[in-house]
Amino acid sequence: MNAPSNAVVNAKPRGRQFFNNPGPTNIPDRVLRAMDRPVLDFMSDEFMAIHHACHAGVKRVLKTDQSLYMYNASGHGAWEAALANLFAAGDSVLIVETGYFSLSWAEMAVNLGIKVETFAADWRRGADVKKLAERLAKDKAHEIKAVLCVHNETATGMVLPVSDIRRALDEAKHPALLLSDTISSLASIDYKMDAWGIDVTVGGSQKGLMLPTGMSFTGVSNKALDVARRNKAPRHYFHWELMNGRAPQKFMGTAPVHMFFGLQESLRMLEEEGLDAVFARHARLAEATRAAVRAWGANGKGPQLYCQSPDRLSNSVTTVLMPEGVSSDPMRKAAIDRFNLSLGGGLGPLMGKVFRIGHMGDLNEPMLLGALATTELAMKAAGVPFSPGVNAAIDSLSS
Ligand code: PLP
Repeated sequence: MNAPSNAVVNAKPRGRQFFNNPGPTNIPDRVLRAMDRPVLDFMSDEFMAIHHACHAGVKRVLKTDQSLYMYNASGHGAWEAALANLFAAGDSVLIVETGYFSLSWAEMAVNLGIKVETFAADWRRGADVKKLAERLAKDKAHEIKAVLCVHNETATGMVLPVSDIRRALDEAKHPALLLSDTISSLASIDYKMDAWGIDVTVGGSQKGLMLPTGMSFTGVSNKALDVARRNKAPRHYFHWELMNGRAPQKFMGTAPVHMFFGLQESLRMLEEEGLDAVFARHARLAEATRAAVRAWGANGKGPQLYCQSPDRLSNSVTTVLMPEGVSSDPMRKAAIDRFNLSLGGGLGPLMGKVFRIGHMGDLNEPMLLGALATTELAMKAAGVPFSPGVNAAIDSLSS
C-alpha cells in the first residue's frame, strides 16, 4: 500500500475557521494589519502618543474618568492586581457566586490569604440581590472590605446587575468597595464604571476589544486608590503606586507596543461604529442565537438555554444546556474537526453538560448564521436530538 502523501496527512480545511468561542474572539483584519509593523521604542514620543490615545480610549469604553492601570498579563493578572493592591492577608471580602469565573476569582483570593465569604447563588437563575442587600445590612461592624462580582459570567451566559449591588451597599450605608469583572462584557454589553459606582473594574484584551490575549487592565476609583495607598501588604508587579512612579507609561516592564498598535485600531473601530451601535449589534446577534436555541429545544427533547432568568441573558455568550444524558463533547469535536467551527465547552461542573456559543467582538449576521447552521450540522453528526432553529434566528434578525 502506498504511504499517504503529505498533502493528505496535512490536509487542512479550506476557508476561514468560524470562531465562536466566548474568548478569545475573532481578531479583525484591521487590527492584525495595525499590528503588522516594526517595533517602536516604548519610550519614544511616537509610542507615547499611541499609549495616551489607548488609555483615553479604554477609559471611554469603561465610562470612567478615574485611574487606569494596564498589565502585560491575561485577565487573571488584572484579577490579582485588584486583590493584591486592596487587601492584606486576613481581610474579608464577599464574592457573589455567578459560576466558574466567580469561583476562580474567589480561589485566587483564598490563595492570597484573604478571607472569602461566598454569597451562594443558583447558576441558572443568578444571585438574589435582595438577599445580598440583607446580608450587607447585617454586617454592622463593616467587616466585609469589598464585594466582588463578575458582571458577565462567561461560563453560564448570565449578566449580574452590578448597579443594583451598588444600590444595596449604599442603602445599607456600607463602605465596602465594589469590584467588578467586565472581562466578557467590555465593549459588548453596556458598562458604566463611574455611574454604577464601581471601585475596581477588571478587563482584558481578548474579548470585546478583539485583540490577542495578553493585556489586561484595571479601572480604579479614587476611593480604591486611597485604600491601596494605605495597604501595607507586599506586592510588586501589580503595585499601583510603583506603577505611578513609572510615569509617563505607568507600565511595569517593557510595554507590549504591538498590543497597543492593535488596541488603538480596535478602539478606532469601536468608536467608528459607535459604542451604542456595538451594544445593539451584540443584542441583535444574541437574540438571534437565543431564538435558535429555543427552537432546538422546542420539542422538549433538544438543547435549551442554560440561563433561566430572561432579564439576565448575556448578549456576548449563550450557554446551551444539553439534553439529559447527552454529552456536548462529541458534538463540539465534530464541529471543530469536521466543519472547522470552534465552540466553547462547559467549565468546571458544567463540563460536557453544556456548550457555549460566543457572539462577541468582530461578528456579523452571516458569521452568526453560519455558526448556528454548522452547530446544527455538528449536532446531527453527533446524534444530538434537536428541532431546526436557524429559521428562528433568521426571523429574529429580520424582525
Ligand atoms: N473573568 C471572566 C469573566 C472570564 O471570562 C475570563 C476568561 O475567560 C477570566 C476572568 C480570566 O481571564 P484570562 O483567561 O484572560 O486570564
